[in-house]
Amino acid sequence: MSCGPFHPSRWPERLPARYWLAQAQVPTPLREGPAGPGPVALLVEEGHIAAVEATVPAGATSAGTPVLDLDGATVLPAFTDIHTHLDKGDLLAAGLAPERDLFAAVALVRDDHARWTEAELRARIGFALRTAQAHGTRALNTYVDWPDPAAPEGPPAWRVLRELRRQWAGRVELALTSLLSIDRLADAAAAETLARTLAAANDGGRGLAAALGLFVYPGAPLQWLPRAFDLAERFGLALDFHVDEHLDPPVANIGAVARLARERGYGARTVCGHACVLGALDEGERDRLLDDIAASGLTLVSLPYTNLYLQDSGSSTTHADRRRTPRRRGLLPVHEARARGIALAFGSDNHRDPFHPAGDLDPLQALALAATAAQLDDGLEHWADTITSAPAAFLGHAGRLVVGAPADLVLHPGRRSAEVLSRPHAGRQVLRAGQLLAPHEAGLPDFRELDLADLRRPA
Ligand SMILES: [Zn+2]
Repeated sequence: MSCGPFHPSRWPERLPARYWLAQAQVPTPLREGPAGPGPVALLVEEGHIAAVEATVPAGATSAGTPVLDLDGATVLPAFTDIHTHLDKGDLLAAGLAPERDLFAAVALVRDDHARWTEAELRARIGFALRTAQAHGTRALNTYVDWPDPAAPEGPPAWRVLRELRRQWAGRVELALTSLLSIDRLADAAAAETLARTLAAANDGGRGLAAALGLFVYPGAPLQWLPRAFDLAERFGLALDFHVDEHLDPPVANIGAVARLARERGYGARTVCGHACVLGALDEGERDRLLDDIAASGLTLVSLPYTNLYLQDSGSSTTHADRRRTPRRRGLLPVHEARARGIALAFGSDNHRDPFHPAGDLDPLQALALAATAAQLDDGLEHWADTITSAPAAFLGHAGRLVVGAPADLVLHPGRRSAEVLSRPHAGRQVLRAGQLLAPHEAGLPDFRELDLADLRRPA
């Protein structure tokens, strides 16, 4: 068998158990093997990476191992999407409208919770998982809106997601994280029930872990932060904060989170998403906070889609100011964070719900947007770790192409950042355990499947 240059459409339906991918362009930080940015040869054997070499060793072909020449096409480890909201995804298909204001969207969705039947949740979340798989995502963290911490069974989405996590194990590994306001920890008994419910989802070793996730809004009662760390330590949970999703200095709660994470030695298990205000602070205050964050060891997550859309909207629930163009953007200072060695990930966040009217759970598209919005030079080589190894490290999943790692790969015909990030979708191919996804899994699901009106019609 000899194929190439990059034409997976001409590849056989079933690839052999052992083959070389030659002339594969892999971002250097995402692989082992030769130093320097040139293409490499990857040996795939029984669904795993068995070697990373500069070129296919002489004699390999004569030894009978097929070589697939990629002609410089890009190979990435499968994506890890660290910040999604699958329980809210595609609420627009259920008739809700985009809000363009964070707190208005929160209120709108809260009012809608009671309509989320398990059938509707299965339809929306199943669609999301098929979408994520087709894009090349292998592991994904989703938040679960948690209206009542005192209810030991959790919300309906919790039951549905735990079931789907079992069904999807081996295809898309799911981490599950609560989402509720930090003031809900005021009731100690309810907070403990919540932590116990989350910890019970860490059983069985199937899928990724569950985490205690909290919303820390401007003016939130920070006296409950120590309780969050107490519960996380006691129940073995990671901590995950939606924090400072606004652009109004001087309010910046992330400093308190970072200080506690450092004091408790819990930074490796703490993640903070959004932190938009860091980009709006004066430079001295921003740098001081970034130094604290670096010292804590926590992971920062930037959400380019939702925060470019949802910040500086100038709108209210009245939508009176819809025609105003936003001036301030919602990106946290990723260059300054990286310069300090802070672990950083980009996530896709909300998709087609009141928080964001577009989005499709595609980490590569999120990276492409960030590359433009945050001016990431050579975004693929220097920043692709933000959608692969960095979030995977936090979630305890494989995220680099090293010997022994699963051959869960995303192939793209582009050879460099400019080619890949300008056409993130075009020609992308997803491999799992060294095999192309089956045709029924490789295609994105049709939006017509999301005609949810029937699910919302009273019987
Ligand atoms: Zn979020």
